[in-house]
Amino acid sequence: MFTFPPRLFSWPLPPVPLIFNIVTAEIPRTMRAVVYRGINDLRLETLPVPRIRSDELLVKVAACGVCPTDIKKIQYGTVSPPRVFGHETAGTIVRLGARVRGFRVGDRVALHHHVPCLDCHACRHRSFAQCAQYKRTGITAGFEPAGGGYAEYVRVMRFVLPGVVKIPARNTFVEGAMQEPVNTVLKAVKRLNLLRGDAVLVAGQGPIGLVFTRLLALQGLKVIATDFLSSRLEIARQWGATRVFNPKEPDQLRHGVPPSGGKAPTNTTPRSTLHPPRSSGVLNEIVDRLTRGRGLDAAVLAVPSDEAMTEAQSLLRGGGQLLLFAHTRRGTLTKLDLSNVCVDEKDIFGSYSADFTLQKEVARLVLSRRLDIRPLITHEFALEKTAEAIELAAHPQPGALKVMVRP
Ligand SMILES: [Zn+2]
Ligand SMILES: [Zn+2]
Repeated sequence: MFTFPPRLFSWPLPPVPLIFNIVTAEIPRTMRAVVYRGINDLRLETLPVPRIRSDELLVKVAACGVCPTDIKKIQYGTVSPPRVFGHETAGTIVRLGARVRGFRVGDRVALHHHVPCLDCHACRHRSFAQCAQYKRTGITAGFEPAGGGYAEYVRVMRFVLPGVVKIPARNTFVEGAMQEPVNTVLKAVKRLNLLRGDAVLVAGQGPIGLVFTRLLALQGLKVIATDFLSSRLEIARQWGATRVFNPKEPDQLRHGVPPSGGKAPTNTTPRSTLHPPRSSGVLNEIVDRLTRGRGLDAAVLAVPSDEAMTEAQSLLRGGGQLLLFAHTRRGTLTKLDLSNVCVDEKDIFGSYSADFTLQKEVARLVLSRRLDIRPLITHEFALEKTAEAIELAAHPQPGALKVMVRP
């Protein structure tokens, strides 16, 4: 694995005056793209550079984040091949349809591959992710549109143009590429019914869990952050978590020792942090102390663990909220004591994907660096190493957080 300085692959273009069918000089006919050809089968192929219509954009990809939803599609084959994945995309506009207004060739932009219609029944209920238009993917590098960010160029269709966000000169492409994932977190946070000073558990401190921790801390909430990787808990602490807890190192925490560098018990060392085991009673103790025995006001599961869900539910106060953010795999059932929901009014709900109406707020947060996402980006891979990038993101190791592909 190798990394390279981000500036190396950025591609500054001088501003070009807006006239019809602007084309920059050096757009080749073909490009490199990483094509999904079947379960765990990604191939570097040569594809034609996408052609655009008069109401579309062609963007040269500079950065594309590796997202767990793509990893699942690649590993479980939930969609048909061939496709080019990658939807957390930022780059430079290199060709502009004659009828497109508000953009110029050379603009550095962040893209959203889903944009709701704002007009249908679902949209009127603010269920944007359930809107039929939203479910269509409007960015492609060829084949069935699937994001296309793991390629050198993408075609941005008309209906997702409202999701194009300009990146100021002082910000990086990577900060642009993080707009979409941060949006999904902010949308979820807004669904929590919290008061300043409330206590929230965030289970899982991967890139998404850490953004939850940071956004909640910025809003004056007490965050209890848990993860199996102490390196992640260290960042959670720096990002404002009130307490951090590693279920593999309960004793350290009990005695007030910072949870870093401890040795994990040999029988509880999973490869990924996605499946935490049942924690000891220590987490209970932490919650009790922090809330004076009242219980958590909310819990966010940024890990797809049913055990963590059951435990989090038991740690909630009556009327508390349990938010599922990572349970995206269909077809598995789990046992629940539903009296917790009915009698104790502990709500369980999910949040999925982004909220178009939060786009400006997300841009302000990230581009102003009030939420500075740069420390999250630990690895950058060249396009031909996309499979390695996905492998790393699927099996996080200490020191690895957000993984970017830089075509
Ligand atoms: Zn994503
Ligand atoms: Zn709609």
